[in-house]
Amino acid sequence: MDGVLCDITRSLAQGSARVTCLIPPGADPHAMALRGSDRQALSSARLVLINGYNLTPAMGRIRVNAPVVPVAERAVPRNKAPDPHVWHDPALTSAMVQETAAALQPVLGSSAAGALQRRRQAMQAVLKQLGSWSAKQLQTVPADQRVLVSEHRAFSAFASRYGIRELPVIDAFASGGSLRPSSLSAISKAIRQSGTKAIFAEALPPSKTLRRISSVSGVSIAKQPIYADGQAPGKSLIQTATANVCTFVTAQGGRCDQQAAAALQQQWAAIR
Ligand SMILES: [Zn+2]
Repeated sequence: MDGVLCDITRSLAQGSARVTCLIPPGADPHAMALRGSDRQALSSARLVLINGYNLTPAMGRIRVNAPVVPVAERAVPRNKAPDPHVWHDPALTSAMVQETAAALQPVLGSSAAGALQRRRQAMQAVLKQLGSWSAKQLQTVPADQRVLVSEHRAFSAFASRYGIRELPVIDAFASGGSLRPSSLSAISKAIRQSGTKAIFAEALPPSKTLRRISSVSGVSIAKQPIYADGQAPGKSLIQTATANVCTFVTAQGGRCDQQAAAALQQQWAAIR
């Protein structure tokens, strides 16, 4: 499984199923290649959950006996954006929880049904609060700075949920990772015109390309990364989402309520 499905599935199943995550937090799902051990895990799986919308091209080509469920495609059947990262809107994450629970139900059996539905509801309640908490923090950012300058197109759902402009500079201006001088100057111009106070790297240290963009545009790179492709290493999906919001809000001149974020994580971690 990929994206945030690792946390969703583990939180839903708890001890009642063995959950193997093929893409560890922090890894790049787009460039994932299956290893021998992954193929072995897939061949013995009773259920394979993938994000879908081609987040992991390698998983689109697998041949297994178990059902393969593209959770985000089922949860968000009318995703118009060319962006598979739908979970950056907690309402869509909640729909993914719903679909994951439905896919797990026949695997876990009827004896686990009550606990599964109870966990699903508890998770969806936290996600609902995450949505309103996020909106509240983002409202503290001055309107001119409600723009997210990132590397690849991963925040369409985030942008449309919270009324933020998205400027994914590498995807919008460069192809195949190479950056022509004309692209560099177009990117720098777009960044300066966007009103942003920061450029957001998806991993630290920032890539050479992003550092060049920063130095030519004169806009600095935020001190914290923004996690586009899944959970931050060692963090839950709630911690990852609240960290992303706080990183964005703080860099763009707003305020972030860290205590309320910690309370959401406590609720999430208490689900058993
Ligand atoms: Zn991505």
